[in-house]
Amino acid sequence: MSTIAAISTPSGVGGIAVVRLSGPEAFAIASHHLALPEPTDRPATAFAHFRNEGRLMDEVVVTLFSAPHSYTGDDTVEISCHGSLYVQQAILQALIDSGARLAEPGEFTRRAFLNGKLNLSQAEAVADLIDSTNAAAHSLAVSQLRGGYAKELEQLRQQLVDLTALLELELDFSDEDVEFADRSRLHSLASQIYTRVTALRESFHMGNALKRGIPVAIIGRPNAGKSSLLNALLHDSRAIVSDIPGTTRDTIEETFVVEGTPFHIIDTAGLRHSDDPIEHLGIQRTINTVVQADIILYVHDATQPFLQALDDLQELQDIRPFDDKHLFIVNNKMDLVQENPVAPYRTFPISAKEGMGIEALTAALAKAAQTDMAHAPDVMLTNVRHYNALGHVEQALLHVAKGLADHLPADLVVVDLRDALHHLGTITGQVTSDEVLGTIFSRFCIGK
Ligand code: GDP
Repeated sequence: MSTIAAISTPSGVGGIAVVRLSGPEAFAIASHHLALPEPTDRPATAFAHFRNEGRLMDEVVVTLFSAPHSYTGDDTVEISCHGSLYVQQAILQALIDSGARLAEPGEFTRRAFLNGKLNLSQAEAVADLIDSTNAAAHSLAVSQLRGGYAKELEQLRQQLVDLTALLELELDFSDEDVEFADRSRLHSLASQIYTRVTALRESFHMGNALKRGIPVAIIGRPNAGKSSLLNALLHDSRAIVSDIPGTTRDTIEETFVVEGTPFHIIDTAGLRHSDDPIEHLGIQRTINTVVQADIILYVHDATQPFLQALDDLQELQDIRPFDDKHLFIVNNKMDLVQENPVAPYRTFPISAKEGMGIEALTAALAKAAQTDMAHAPDVMLTNVRHYNALGHVEQALLHVAKGLADHLPADLVVVDLRDALHHLGTITGQVTSDEVLGTIFSRFCIGK
């Protein structure tokens, strides 16, 4: 196994930078350049002079992690040097000249996985942690890394193994044509596992919302001010504002964070019926967006009669009913009218153009989302790969349950159970292919 090295801090100039070196020769290679502290089973730190061919390069802090007490599980040296690009590169180059190899993206974490320091779902949580841009996604990634999720998967695996063992017992005596275990008990075991898998799978909606942002759809008539509201929410001009009705034909998606809660906001084409095929497509997309959204922001132009809005809201309720906690009706262009139009709904008076009423609106959005999140399960699924794998587990378990109910021979039921175990194993990495590993670790940057 080679010893790998990389700059582990982001590229660019910072106060300090960390160069990481890990592998069987890490201590030997590092000792060519600096005096190392004595290795113990705890991290050992010292000040040191980093020298290359006798020349002093930098004064650094060196930390030694002895195998297996390191992130990768191999001997590891971390050198904190001054942040100049030249110093970082020179130290890295010196380590490579002394026998290290430049690490590939995610290779430190890949080694941690191969050495059993992390399972695959935890390694993926590390990638999420590095990517996390908001408090909610961060705490999710941390809890995955901690392993509540891994524990849940392990319990599921254990239950599947137990069920398989019971059936295999029957197989050992198959000549005698007896059913050993009570089939109805096995069936109820299988259903229990199935229910757990389904619950975990269903948590994906919430988990993904926290990671990517809670899906919010902005709808309303053309020119009501949907793009302007999106801009006001984002404080920038990603959406193109125009005066021609029906020009927001495509959807525009953005994320913004209020009080640590991420929102994934989708600006849609209007709800207006149209014979124009392109616009019609846009409306179809609006419907899809509405179906997937957790929260609706309906924008009404306050200079128009509210009756219009009532029609649209009726149409919306036909597509999908929203309770008033998740339906936000916004009276826009309040700078042009004297009074908030009378409406049989809770409404938010705003002026997207003047930025008026936006804060009250975002505060209410955050409150609605936080109330929803209070009911979030402890363990949540956030990863599409895991979601799909659990879908296969679910399917296999359906076959198991059906096989047991139909009194199929044990060996046939065992095939489906093994299938379920296989797919579960792809999540934690008990079953992996190089291809899957390659895809996962390529998400990391070099140095992670
Ligand atoms: P959309 O078709 O619903 O996305 O509407 P736009 O955001 O493109 O806005 C349509 C027109 O209304 C543009 O000319 C905006 O400048 C204008 N507009 C949007 N919000 C306001 C507002 O709060 N006050 C005023 N006076 N005009 C607005």
